[in-house]
Amino acid sequence: MPLLKSWVASANAPDTPFPLNNLPYGVFSVGHGALRCGVALGDQIIDATGLEAAGLLRADEDADVLGAPNWNDFMALGPAAWATYRTRLAGLLLEGVEQATQNAITAHLVPMAQVTLHLPLKVVEFTDFYAGKHHAKNVGTMFRGPENALPPNWQHIPIGYNGRASSVVVSGTQITRPCGQTKAPDADMPSFGPCKRLDIELEMGAIVGTPSQMGWPVSVAEADDMIFGYVLLNDWSARDIQAWEYQPLGPFQAKAFATSISPWIVTKAALEPFRISTPAREKDLLPYLHEPGPMLYDIDLAVTMAPADQPATTIARTNYKEMYYSAAQQLAHHTSSGCGMNTGDLLGSGTISGPEKHEGGSLLELTWGGKAPLTLKTGETRNFIEDGDTLTLTGAAKGEGYQIGFGTCTGTILPAVKTPDEGTKP
Ligand code: CA
Repeated sequence: MPLLKSWVASANAPDTPFPLNNLPYGVFSVGHGALRCGVALGDQIIDATGLEAAGLLRADEDADVLGAPNWNDFMALGPAAWATYRTRLAGLLLEGVEQATQNAITAHLVPMAQVTLHLPLKVVEFTDFYAGKHHAKNVGTMFRGPENALPPNWQHIPIGYNGRASSVVVSGTQITRPCGQTKAPDADMPSFGPCKRLDIELEMGAIVGTPSQMGWPVSVAEADDMIFGYVLLNDWSARDIQAWEYQPLGPFQAKAFATSISPWIVTKAALEPFRISTPAREKDLLPYLHEPGPMLYDIDLAVTMAPADQPATTIARTNYKEMYYSAAQQLAHHTSSGCGMNTGDLLGSGTISGPEKHEGGSLLELTWGGKAPLTLKTGETRNFIEDGDTLTLTGAAKGEGYQIGFGTCTGTILPAVKTPDEGTKP
């Protein structure tokens, strides 16, 4: 598919992340104004709440669904309504539409430079998976040796755990370094203090648009239909706390302090031309996990690191197509026990690492457990994240003459708050 040209000129720039082909959904505010639903186009935001209130474009004829400060009510309308809305919105923005339409829509455009972006959805529940084979092999090799790198269930089950929706924040939110228990191998007793091995996990987040009924599993094809769209996701991780706490029930506090997501939900419709199959199976999957078609996406991903007030260095490049399981497979597996899923559930893909060393989706892999420090542009070295460092994820699917961008997913680390009575709560 070529670039769809818009009368909004900035949407036709070859390097914009938000051409008319994209139309991602977010939530914004201007100054101290109320939160509004918006759609990114070039360097503008289309005020979708305003279009609905003015009767210029409604998702539902009978009820306002874009008045709420998130896209959850819209998502709950389901795939037919999503498609109709997207088609009608694109129709208003295409190059060549009549001047009266352009004038009416222009009154609802807000320059992106003037807004604050917020979480685009109310995150109802958060599940995090472990579906990147290169990541699982790398981490397993470091912790258990190369022979036992992949757990015996890994090639049969998309492994995951239930995370914390309360800790999901929008890109740009500052992250306080967590504290927790750690124990050195030669110590008799654990100690409590700030995390010393603070890390990122480069992931994609899949957003569940329509619910499933408790007690009723869904197929992989039905799961794909339920997914509304995708965001970039950084699952901040405290490696030293994780190493001591994780047996036998898996991660807990090491993964419950912050997960950042990018502010724009890129719809499945925008990503349609970039569908790609999961890699060849090494062991046959059970029938309920078979995919009826390609359900991964070819999305280039990168990570940068910047010390305080210093330029950023790109520390990793990889691609979402490296995952072993798709979000649709993960969602089908999630419902396979009868677990009900809800509008606004967020599924983390698991860390996305490629086969090469510079393709690691975590510092744990990029520095091989802290043994091979990274050298940044500034000459500084890093094993893990230091206070004041800013980590930024970017992602884009590359088309012919356009790209489907996700915006950025960024966060800066603040020093730890060591005791409940230290410091002043904001
Ligand atoms: Ca994770």
